[in-house]
Amino acid sequence: MSQFNQPLGGNDMPRFGGPATMMRLPSQDTAEGLDACFVGIPMDIGTSNRPGTRMGPRQIRDESRMLRPFNMATGAAPFEKLQVADIGDVPINTFDLKKSVEIIADHYRGILGHDAVPLTLGGDHTLTWPILRAMKEKHGPVALIHVDAHADINEHMFGETVAHGCPFRRAWEEDCLINDKVFQIGLRGTGYAPEDFDWARDKGWTVMQAEECWYKSMAPVMDRIRDQIGDAPVYVTYDIDSLDPAFAPGTGTVEVGGLTTIQGLEIIRGCAGLNIVGCDLVEVSPPYDPSGNTALIGANFLYEMLCVLPGVA
Ligand code: MN
Ligand code: MN
Repeated sequence: MSQFNQPLGGNDMPRFGGPATMMRLPSQDTAEGLDACFVGIPMDIGTSNRPGTRMGPRQIRDESRMLRPFNMATGAAPFEKLQVADIGDVPINTFDLKKSVEIIADHYRGILGHDAVPLTLGGDHTLTWPILRAMKEKHGPVALIHVDAHADINEHMFGETVAHGCPFRRAWEEDCLINDKVFQIGLRGTGYAPEDFDWARDKGWTVMQAEECWYKSMAPVMDRIRDQIGDAPVYVTYDIDSLDPAFAPGTGTVEVGGLTTIQGLEIIRGCAGLNIVGCDLVEVSPPYDPSGNTALIGANFLYEMLCVLPGVA
């Protein structure tokens, strides 16, 4: 018997049965005693186009049912090294986005108070801003690896400063980020002005547009990013719309010409060795994901994030 929680195996309970938790792990109410925790934020009231990410955490958990404990590619054995559980969802106020942001920040203060590393199942990308606020209170400003089709640095959307296109602008305003250790990967699509992505570059952030990633392995890129981040605390935020819609159609704001699933894996696996203090996987919208494959990729990416946490990788 391991001293740590284990995912319920397919030889103990059929894959389509058992607890509806992430990887069919045990659930608990708080992060007490945990090294890492899966936590859902069922929110889509910050989205600007197609809704549905409020259903994301449940669908990601459902599609995580076939994940087995060992990573056959990297050799990682997260459940031999860390105590992990699913601590359920953040009780956001689905009628009030600004209140929800405060609820999320408070909830993450609680998780970080237990010294657990949160792995968040989103939910729309608004949620990363309150998480980064809680991270700053615990760790000071953090390095950021942000994979996304979009920069999410809008001053406002429709006059509102809190929205899924604004989280990194707000985080920058509140000095949550180490500006020469911020990396935005996969940005693309159409803009309001040709210089839209330069706001970030002017702040010292590194912006790697999707076209710079096309046809390439991301492993050498990640080698450089690891060198540049060093031992700083780093937060990883992965917007599923960074992937090409051929792989991940189930999201709200689709852009063509995106990353491959393999490149996504290379990015996450390339985070091994970093001092990761938290991760999220956002913008999975089940109503636009009839095959479940978008949520399935999301579930796998969250598992891969667990596999690169300090103490595992
Ligand atoms: Mn985003
Ligand atoms: Mn996006």
